[in-house]
Parts: sequence; structure tokens; C-alpha cells
Amino acid sequence: MNADMTKDTQGQLVDLSVIIPVYNEQDVLGKLFERLYPVMDALGRSFEVLFVNDGSSDNSSGILAEQFEQRPDVTRVVSLSSNAGQHAALIAGFELTRGKFIITLDADLQNPPEEIPAIVAEMDKGFDYVGSIRASRNDKAWRHIASRMMNSLREKITNIHMTDQGCMLRGYSREIVREVAICNESRTFIPALAYLYAARPTEITVAHEERAAGKSKYSLLKLIQLNFDLMTSFSSMPLRLISLTGIAVSILSFLFVMYLAYRRLFYGPEVEGVFTLFGITIFLMGLLLFSVGMLGEYIGRINGLVRRRKRFRVASVLQADEGVKSHDETRTSSKPED
Ligand code: UDP
Ligand code: MG
Repeated sequence: MNADMTKDTQGQLVDLSVIIPVYNEQDVLGKLFERLYPVMDALGRSFEVLFVNDGSSDNSSGILAEQFEQRPDVTRVVSLSSNAGQHAALIAGFELTRGKFIITLDADLQNPPEEIPAIVAEMDKGFDYVGSIRASRNDKAWRHIASRMMNSLREKITNIHMTDQGCMLRGYSREIVREVAICNESRTFIPALAYLYAARPTEITVAHEERAAGKSKYSLLKLIQLNFDLMTSFSSMPLRLISLTGIAVSILSFLFVMYLAYRRLFYGPEVEGVFTLFGITIFLMGLLLFSVGMLGEYIGRINGLVRRRKRFRVASVLQADEGVKSHDETRTSSKPED
């Protein structure tokens, strides 16, 4: 656990903190700066832009350092030692933020920075969590379909109700961010976790654009992992479903065996149905493997919690008052376990 988060030891607080995870985004960062900073300046509040460089291997860190030179008053750059994933990067930002309100944003301009004032307006009304719904989504078609399916599954099996779980342009109060950071789960899904702690959540509709440049950092496998995290950290329903399926299958197979015994006694042995039996057996084997895998997901989570390791280590921080701070040993966190 990070003791820092329980106290406000991050120095002077600012009104707004925009946290942006950056993983190999050299092609979009320039455009992002051009659009983000004017929006923030126009708000007329104290603010910081906190970039979390999630182990980028391209020139992102160079570009971020340049931007820090340009606007050292409001820019902070935190670099993680290796790629820890978008949500872990956000947690790193949460631990270091100085904002009273925290806004998360993707670096690729899919969430237009021009929407930030709308989020701030909601927070000013007293909401402590401002979720977002993408007006029209600009992603690949298969992402739409998969995302809609996961969204409705999450609605059913968890008690977290969000219209659109995918959009990361969101606002959180400092209290919520602190709770989320303290949770210290190695793998999590931030909007859902934050929602658990929100007293007055609300949602607004925001525009969604195509990625300005570069490619999505989410492969199908990473998306599946993220959704497993979402399901297993907020619901035990999958485990229960396995038990229920087990019960149903046991009853059915018992009836089947009774029927086979009856046939054996009154009609003699049969071999014709042998492929049906294969079919059933293979189906059951699939079911078993799936169940073991599902159990494994939960055990993996427990394992992660027991080890009490975090996924990342902050390797350096660029910020105005302390200058370059490298290999900050006070914030040791871990490697991913996968
Ligand atoms: N990102 C990150 N670490 C990762 C993957 C992504 O920090 O391992 C950042 C990425 O730079 C971007 C945001 O998370 O700012 C969203 O990523 P992306 O646009 O690739 O996801 P998509 O929009 O396709 O869901
Ligand atoms: Mg994107």
C-alpha cells in the first residue's frame, strides 16, 4: 500500500488534473498538446497535465520531455519502468496526482479534449464521478459488437451500471481516486472500481473520434484479458454459473445413464450410438476445461493479491519543483504476473 495516498503529500493541490496514459504514441502527442493545452488554459483554473509514460519504446518519452520544457508549470511526466497496461498506468497517475478533480483521457485523441469543460461542469454541480457515453463510436466494427456484448454481460452479472464501459474520458473526485489507488489491485478496471466508491455518479454524452494516428494498443488477447479482469474483479457469478451448469449436466447425464442401462437390459448392447457418446464426452471435456480456466482466473487474482505486488515501478518523474527524479525507490512496484 502506498502510504502517500492517505495524506496529501503531493505538494500544492490544483483544481484539475488530467491524467493521460501514453504507450508508444509519438505520432499523436503533438496533436494532443495542440488541442489539450488551449482547452485547459481557457478554463481559468489551476491545473496539471500528468502524463504516465507506460514503458514506451518509441520516441514518446523524448516528446513528453520536450513538452515538459515548454510548459513546466503545468506538465508532469511520470515514466514507468516497463509496460504495465493502461489501467495500471492510470493507477500510477492516481497515486501521484495533485488534482482536486481528476480527468482521465486517452492520448490518441479518440476522446476530444474539447469535452473536458463539460465534465468539469458536472463536477462543479457536485457529482463525484462523471462517466461518459460515446455519442457515436469510431472503432473497428468487431470492437463495437464485442464491446456491446461485454457491456450487457457486465450489467447482468455485476452491480455496476454504466451505459458505456469503454470510454476512458471520465472525471473523478480526489476522494474516489484515492480509494481506487489504495485498493492496490494488480489488475483492475478503473471506471468500474471508481463507480463502487461514488456517492453521486452521473453520465454525460461525449464525442468520440477516430484514433488520430498510430494503431490501437489493444490486441484481441489484451481485450479478452481486460474483460476477464472486469468480470472476475466485480462478480462471482461466473463461478456460480459453473456450479449450476455442473448440477444441470450431472442430472442430465444421470438420466442418460439410466436410459442406457434400461436399453442394455431390454434390447441388448448397442454400438451404433457410439459417436453420440463421443460428442457428449467431448462437450463435457470442453465444459470442464472452461471451468478449470475460470477457476484459474480467480485463483490468479487471489495469487496476485496474496503477493501484494503492484504491476509497475515509477522509474522517473519530471516535474517543476523537484526537477528530474530518477529511480525513485520509494515507489517500488512490480512486474506483471502474466
Ligand atoms: N495505453 C497504455 N498502455 C498500454 C496500452 C494502452 O498506456 O499497454 C494507452 C494508450 O497510449 C492510449 C490509451 O491507453 O492513450 C488507450 O489505448 P488505445 O487507444 O490503444 O486503446 P483503444 O482506444 O483501441 O481501446
Ligand atoms: Mg484509442
